[in-house]
Amino acid sequence: MGGLRAPILSPTGAGLFFERDGALSWADGLLVPPDGAGEPMADVLLIPGLVDAHVHLPQYRVRGRFQEALLPWLREHIWPEEARFGERAYREGVTSEFRDGLIAAGTTAALVYGAPSADTAHAVLRDLAPLCIRGGDVLMDRNSPEDLLRDTEDALETSRQHAEGYGERYVLTPRFAPTCSPRLMAGCGSILAVRDVGLQTHLAENLDEVAWVAELHPDRRSYTDVYAHFGLLGPRSVFGHCIHLDDQDLQQLADSGSWVAHCPTSNIALGSGRMPLERHLAAGVNVALATDVGAGPDLSMLDVMRSFLEVHEGAAEVSPGQALRLATLAGARAMGEGSQRGVLLPGRAADVVAVRIPGGVGRGESGEAALRRALFAFEGRYEEAIAGVWVAGERLR
Ligand SMILES: [Zn+2]
Repeated sequence: MGGLRAPILSPTGAGLFFERDGALSWADGLLVPPDGAGEPMADVLLIPGLVDAHVHLPQYRVRGRFQEALLPWLREHIWPEEARFGERAYREGVTSEFRDGLIAAGTTAALVYGAPSADTAHAVLRDLAPLCIRGGDVLMDRNSPEDLLRDTEDALETSRQHAEGYGERYVLTPRFAPTCSPRLMAGCGSILAVRDVGLQTHLAENLDEVAWVAELHPDRRSYTDVYAHFGLLGPRSVFGHCIHLDDQDLQQLADSGSWVAHCPTSNIALGSGRMPLERHLAAGVNVALATDVGAGPDLSMLDVMRSFLEVHEGAAEVSPGQALRLATLAGARAMGEGSQRGVLLPGRAADVVAVRIPGGVGRGESGEAALRRALFAFEGRYEEAIAGVWVAGERLR
C-alpha cells in the first residue's frame, strides 16, 4: 500500500492527462483508484517511470567518451569494451553501476543490449532487477574481431534456450546486418516466427553503414529490405536509429507494425544526422525514444526528451507532452509492456517518477509547460531533476 499527492502528467491511450491536485494510490505493486491518503510532495510533477527503448549495458563505462563516426567508434572503442564485458568480475561491476544509473535517471523499464557472449543475457535479464527489463546477448558472426565472433549455430541454439528460460523477456539481438551472416539473420527470423520473443537491432544510422550493407546484399532493394527478407520486421521488432530511409522503407516499417527507437542525443554525438521525424510520423511508423548509451552521453531520458524538442524544432511538430509519451508509453509498447506500464492509471504497474519543478507547477500553468521548464532548467544535471523513483510501488530513490 502506498500513495502520493502532487500534480500528475501522464499519457493516456490517445492523449495526455494533467491533474494539478493529483493523487496516486497503489497496492501490491499496482496503481488503484486513488484514496487521497498519499504522502504530499511539493514542487514536483509525477510522471510514469521513464522507458529507454535502446540502451547498451556493456558500453556504460565508455558512454559519451568518444565522438567519432559510427564504424570507427565501434571498432576502436566499443568492441574492445564489449570484449572486456565477457569477463565475469568486470561484467558484475558494470552491471551494478548501470542499474544504479538507470534508477538515478528515473528509468524504470528498458530494452537492453548485452555483449556478444551468451551469458551476458543473464546480466541483462537477471541482474538488473527490480527494474523492468527486456533484452538479450548480442549476436554477430562476421566482420568483427575474432574474440567477439560467435559460432552461428551455437549462438542460435543458445538464443533458443534463453527464449525458453526467460520467455517473452528475451529479445533476439543481432547487432546489425553488417556483422550478421545471412544464416544468422534467417535463424533469428525462424525463432521469431515460432517463439513469443522480440527482436532488436540497428538500421540506417550512418551513410557508410548503409553503403556497406548495399555492398554485402546487392540483391536486396535496401537495408530495410534485408531485414524484411529474413523475416525480422514486425510489431515485436525495434530498430535503432532509422535515419537514412526512403519512403518505401518507412512504409515497410509502418505496414509491419515495427518500432523505431529514436536516439537524438546519440545521433548528435556520432554526427549521424537528424532523423526526419516528420516523415516517420507521416508514414505512420511507431516511434519511441531512447538514449543509446554508450553513444548517447548518459542514461537520462529527460536529456533525450530535451534534445528531441531541440533537434526537431521548426522541422516537425513536437511538444513536451509528445516527448513524454515517446519516453514512457511508446517505449513500454515497443518493448511489449504496453498493457502493464507507461501510463499512470489504475491497473498498471506503480512505476512512478517525481520530476522536480523549480518553484512548483505555477497557478494557471499547464503540466506540459511545467515539464518543459524542468527539462530546460536542469540541462547537464539531470540527476538533480529526479526527486523520487518508485518501481511497483517500492521507493528506490
Ligand atoms: Zn545502439
